[in-house]
Amino acid sequence: MSKFTDVYNTLETYLKSLVGMQDSKSIWKVYLQILPPDIQASTKTINHYRNAIDGHGTSVLGTMPTVPDEWVIFLQGQLNWVKKNEEEVKQKMLAIINSTQTTKPQNQYPQFQEADQIITCQGCGSQFYFTAGEQRFYKEKGLNIPKYCKTCRAKRNVKDPK
Ligand SMILES: [Zn+2]
Repeated sequence: MSKFTDVYNTLETYLKSLVGMQDSKSIWKVYLQILPPDIQASTKTINHYRNAIDGHGTSVLGTMPTVPDEWVIFLQGQLNWVKKNEEEVKQKMLAIINSTQTTKPQNQYPQFQEADQIITCQGCGSQFYFTAGEQRFYKEKGLNIPKYCKTCRAKRNVKDPK
């Protein structure tokens, strides 16, 4: 594993443990929102790039063969900042998570909203994003809001094919 993926994964794991979230995509979405605009933009770029590289830090897109050292330093800086301001970061992230989460009436599906929603998987308890775009697609198709994360949905499809 490269130094880049090492620092990236450490930061991700740290953030997840801080707010008790398990979904990688969701944790970065929440985390990005608490960052100042300039840091946020750079982090977003790194985040997108991370999703396109393998475990050895080599781009699967072939656009950038090596990760710049500045990125590792930049992420290490964030990791240190998060650790130093743990409680503040935690509270800010929880506030975002709670404001995004919909309160679900019992035995009913939550209303569709024109904003990303965080859904807690009824299978494994992890949280995942149900984006505004996905919501529109589901609404158009007349589908119910998903209750399970992608992993659990895949498992259920194998277990109970329809
Ligand atoms: Zn699940």
